[in-house]
Amino acid sequence: MSICAHSATELKNKIDSGELSSAQVCRAFLDQIERLDEKIGAFIQVDPDQVLRDAEAIDQKRLRGETVGPLSGLPVAIKDNLCTQGQVTSCASKMLANFRPPYDATVIAKLRAADAVLIGKTNLDEFAMGGSTENSAVKQTANPWDVNRVPGGSSGGAAACVAAKMAPLSLGTDTGGSIRQPAAFCGVTGLKPTYGRVSRYGLVAFASSLDQIGPIAANAGDAALLLSAIAGHDALDSTSSPEAVPDYVDVVSQPLTGLKIGLVSEHHGAGVDSEVLSAVDQAVKVFHSLGAEVHEVSFPHSKYGIAAYYIIAPSEASSNLARFDSAHYGYRTDEATMMAELAAEKSANPKGEAESPLIRMYRKSRAEGFGTEVKRRIMLGTYALSAGYYDAYYLKALKVRRLIRQDYDQAFQQVDLVLGPSTPGLPFCLGEMADDPLSMYLQDLCTVGANLAGVPSISIPCGFSKSGLPIGLQLQGPAFAEAKLLQAAHMFQSQTDWHQRHPELP
Ligand code: GLN
Repeated sequence: MSICAHSATELKNKIDSGELSSAQVCRAFLDQIERLDEKIGAFIQVDPDQVLRDAEAIDQKRLRGETVGPLSGLPVAIKDNLCTQGQVTSCASKMLANFRPPYDATVIAKLRAADAVLIGKTNLDEFAMGGSTENSAVKQTANPWDVNRVPGGSSGGAAACVAAKMAPLSLGTDTGGSIRQPAAFCGVTGLKPTYGRVSRYGLVAFASSLDQIGPIAANAGDAALLLSAIAGHDALDSTSSPEAVPDYVDVVSQPLTGLKIGLVSEHHGAGVDSEVLSAVDQAVKVFHSLGAEVHEVSFPHSKYGIAAYYIIAPSEASSNLARFDSAHYGYRTDEATMMAELAAEKSANPKGEAESPLIRMYRKSRAEGFGTEVKRRIMLGTYALSAGYYDAYYLKALKVRRLIRQDYDQAFQQVDLVLGPSTPGLPFCLGEMADDPLSMYLQDLCTVGANLAGVPSISIPCGFSKSGLPIGLQLQGPAFAEAKLLQAAHMFQSQTDWHQRHPELP
């Protein structure tokens, strides 16, 4: 078995026992990137020399007899909206193409402290806005199961690199499904933690009341390993929770008894692909055979989820993205051209009121630096927040959000976890929805609820379509039930082998 075919947990054990060094493991994954990434396009930045230096430093530490952190020199890929000190953090946007943050995000600092090796930065939809990674200003990412299809998004690179075994672990971010939908499309495991479970300090904000950082991995045990390293309170993020962090690695393999699961009736019919539905039905049977009780539960307000999300997320985005004024950092329009334009306008119309160079600089830089989808969100959000529309849109969406939250509270009075598809459909073709934002937004049907309610949710592989495309099962739990989600996912994965299938790549 090649090094890259092993799970993160297996590799950790091999490194800890001395069978492999971190440098050997990292070199194997770098080779895999070299071999495959031209075709997949998961990474937007890899510095092999730095990776090997970091790996060797951890190997040296071990040789000196020092304690090595829980990630043991394992390579971890990082979505490129997480700040890495001194290293470009572009958010796949022209706006930040040359932005080198002067600090590490807390999750990055925690990974370094746990002795992970950062193997590279992965592609995403620009500023994490999208569901296919096609909104990246850098390049397209292909689905390793069918390179003509999208890997999902916005963490498309993060999911694709794990699926193609170019990294055993990656960090993604999820505002409305961006960890779980690409995990489902790429046949890997992805967990969106409870809002506040993981510090967002150093995550370039999209929608601050919804954003969370989480692990993408080959299986629940590996996701537990990565979550353990990043979870916990952080004084630098006032929304991070002081709730104690369980040892996810320790609990993940403990079986759950008397588990009660709710099947979300609203996500089990119209609007969901029939092959996805039958894979979910098979998953229900697996949980039955494991001794779980499965009931139907209703989320009566889930039909308003997409509408509420696409008011709230763009509203917050329009405010968050106002910081990109090109004055302090980020893309700036060519000033000579701009001044020449202003001078030409002035001489054509000497009595007219000229735009100030500063305003023109903001306007042009933002027009040139942001892509179409980002501009669409800024306009939607600015509109929803503007005087006269605030109550009708933003405030109403917040009220709907409360009702959705109450649906979850009620469901969790009856059951421990709820189950359903991660996505309504199968991975679609590159370009298929690129000009149809509404269809793209509807792909988030099953995932936005967990963000609006702030609860944790995991996507795990539960089958394949006849055409060989992966299908994801979503489990959602009450706030801070990550351990239970991981345990349920692990139980499922101990009875199934969907997560062990690999795409055939050259
Ligand atoms: N697809 C959703 C959107 O476009 C979710 C994105 C995300 O979770 N970052 O907003």
